[in-house]
Amino acid sequence: GMPALPPPTLAPRRKTRQIKVGSVLVGGDAPVSVQSMTTTPTNDVNKTLQQIAELTAAGCDIVRVACPRQEDADALAEIAQHSQIPVIADIHFQPGYVFAAIEAGCAAVRVNPGNIRKFDDQVKQIAQAAKDHGTSLRIGVNAGSLDKRLLEKYGKATPEALVESAVWEASLFEEHDFHDFKISVKHNDPVVMVQAYQMLAERGDWPLHLGVTEAGPAFQGTIKSSVAFGALLSQGIGDTIRVSLSAPPVEEVKVGLQILQSLNLRERKLEIVSCPSCGRAQVDVYTLAEQVTAGLEGMEVPLRVAVMGCVVNGPGEAREADLGVASGNGKGQIFVKGEVIKTVPESAIVETLIEEAMRIAETMETP
Ligand code: SF4
Repeated sequence: GMPALPPPTLAPRRKTRQIKVGSVLVGGDAPVSVQSMTTTPTNDVNKTLQQIAELTAAGCDIVRVACPRQEDADALAEIAQHSQIPVIADIHFQPGYVFAAIEAGCAAVRVNPGNIRKFDDQVKQIAQAAKDHGTSLRIGVNAGSLDKRLLEKYGKATPEALVESAVWEASLFEEHDFHDFKISVKHNDPVVMVQAYQMLAERGDWPLHLGVTEAGPAFQGTIKSSVAFGALLSQGIGDTIRVSLSAPPVEEVKVGLQILQSLNLRERKLEIVSCPSCGRAQVDVYTLAEQVTAGLEGMEVPLRVAVMGCVVNGPGEAREADLGVASGNGKGQIFVKGEVIKTVPESAIVETLIEEAMRIAETMETP
């Protein structure tokens, strides 16, 4: 048959140069990758690797670990060696740890320009060490640690200030003919953040790492990040993303993947198309949708499952889905590709949907 066309996206990706973060390509035509950061003490190697394994299972592409102390720097080699996904060391103040992370085999190192001034003279050595080891860098500009000089010049962390900091910092490495880095200009205000990335995208072809910093607890942080990333990705801006939540990092990965799937930047996997329910509903749609979602969690095929509270829109929506149910009169009409295949009692809806989903999944090719 005809090969399926890729689903439409809102904009072509901006042309950025491509870098390597270990085995993951960032920028150019590489898929937008999802990152998160471990919350365990980095020097607790077992706990950190355990959390990295959980993140990997959740679909995380790249993981970052903080490196505030010597014992954390000492743990990097073992972590980098045993992690299934590339490890980025996050280093704020100590240039010595940058070298340690490079030597340890980290895929990349995140450096902070607000602090790099302290090791201006070491930029050349860092660039050389990174080149020698095939390590890439992230220049991570952050509103909270902006260079003093720029804070004085702009009064606060404006988009212009963040971008000036980033461009200046990039030039320090470019002077030494080092180009394997991506840039982030994070701010906790999505509006400032979006403006900063838009401006930065005009200034060069660096791959960009998107982040709203200190986005907040799960609900607020999810919305702030989704809105900001959506605004940028819909303009083709953004090569890798990290959702920051005051919540377990696996949640960050789930949100990140969902943002990309929503924009067709990732293949949609299981998608539950459930109605909000209304006065016509003849079944508890919230519970039904939750049970179906839980029952199908982890399915690796792109399956659209419609869960409809009544038969008014049920058949129509279900036609667009691979599988669906429309409830009424204590029964559920089960649809496959828009055809009613059976009607089951309400109590059997969930198990029937799961059964049918498994059957359909078997006939689908796993990518
Ligand atoms: Fe209301 Fe039925 Fe539409 Fe659900 S499918 S929102 S119950 S009309």
